[in-house]
Amino acid sequence: MLPVMEAFYTVQGEGMHTGVPAYFIRLGGCDVGCVWCDVKESWEAEKWPILGIEEIVDHALIYPGRMVVITGGEPLMYNLDPLTTLLKERGFSTHIETSGAHPFSGHFDWVCFSPKKFKAPHPSIYENADELKVVIFHKSDFDFAEKHAALVKEDCKKLLQPEWSKSSQVMGAIVDYVKTHPNWKISLQTHKFMDIP
Ligand code: SF4
Repeated sequence: MLPVMEAFYTVQGEGMHTGVPAYFIRLGGCDVGCVWCDVKESWEAEKWPILGIEEIVDHALIYPGRMVVITGGEPLMYNLDPLTTLLKERGFSTHIETSGAHPFSGHFDWVCFSPKKFKAPHPSIYENADELKVVIFHKSDFDFAEKHAALVKEDCKKLLQPEWSKSSQVMGAIVDYVKTHPNWKISLQTHKFMDIP
């Protein structure tokens, strides 16, 4: 049983799987407290209906895409072993978007780790991350990004993403940074340009 704020079929807008149709499961509850969070309504888990994992997966099966992204809120507040096991049994590729602030759980084909300054990640995320996606809100965030890049696996993809409201202020610095640090690439929130969820 998990609190589900919303679940919807759309196109992954950011990160390494940009452009791929995906079913998003947004779990309620987050204790990270990012000042620029664009889903603050997700923070209180009690506000959202508690659904069984069979019901969650049955709804995902309605759509033709077989990529599921579990997001939040902070989805690792919950043990994701049962939900991801069932999703994989039903033929889904399982992805997660997490700040890593809680112990890792679940069976994932792709783990997008987006650390936040507001709550330190749990050490278990580093060996599991396939993608390190750091939101750049301020120029000091480049140092923060490198600190976490030093801890992830060598083949972990490294992405810098402008915070949407600060994009015009930080974009030039991000472009300059990836040109001089080519182990990084840029991620954009393309779903916001496409005006889709
Ligand atoms: S971790 Fe995500 S959901 Fe939680 S406050 Fe930060 S941006 Fe919002």
